[in-house]
Amino acid sequence: MSKQTLVTLDLEGVLVPEIWIAVAEKTGIEALRRTTRDEPDYDRLMQGRLDILAEHGLGLPDIQEVIATLSPLPGAAAFLEQLRARTQVIILSDTFEEFAQPLMRQLGWPSIFCHRLLCDPAGRLSGYRLRQPNQKQAAVAAFKGLNYKVIAAGDSFNDTTMLAEADVGFFFHAPENIRAQFPQFRAFDEYADLRCSIEEQL
Ligand SMILES: [Mg+2]
Repeated sequence: MSKQTLVTLDLEGVLVPEIWIAVAEKTGIEALRRTTRDEPDYDRLMQGRLDILAEHGLGLPDIQEVIATLSPLPGAAAFLEQLRARTQVIILSDTFEEFAQPLMRQLGWPSIFCHRLLCDPAGRLSGYRLRQPNQKQAAVAAFKGLNYKVIAAGDSFNDTTMLAEADVGFFFHAPENIRAQFPQFRAFDEYADLRCSIEEQL
């Protein structure tokens, strides 16, 4: 009998737009456009974002206001619903609970494992707390320890250890430079193609 399966999905770039790019567009702060695609060192990237927000006097309510205007990517909600009818799905994201909530509502409240922001009473972001380092890979390793076959999909540098740890890893919406660096992962751009390749593994 084949193993039970579990799918882990990245969030930003796979199911929803890049939140920080949306904040950059809304606020006009170009420096916020950098993502994990540009800066593989997440801690350096995130500290830089918080410094920029502080310089501009922007706090959590300002960013939540922007996020509330975002929608999942076209087709994402249907993809997720169809996948969840076939197997277990957990979103593994390096975003924060405070940012994810308005988007999770639109996706039917799927399970998401991510991090938390540190916010003072005035709404200023004082920092962030990673629940654990390299949480995507750690989660996949834990699920394998629960005797699941894990199939993972993501779009960026911060997904590659998750994809490598999984029994099967796919890129989705990954830029060409990242695909070229990790040719061992098959890459897709359409939900239907990703779903078919995942379903072949179930
Ligand atoms: Mg991503």
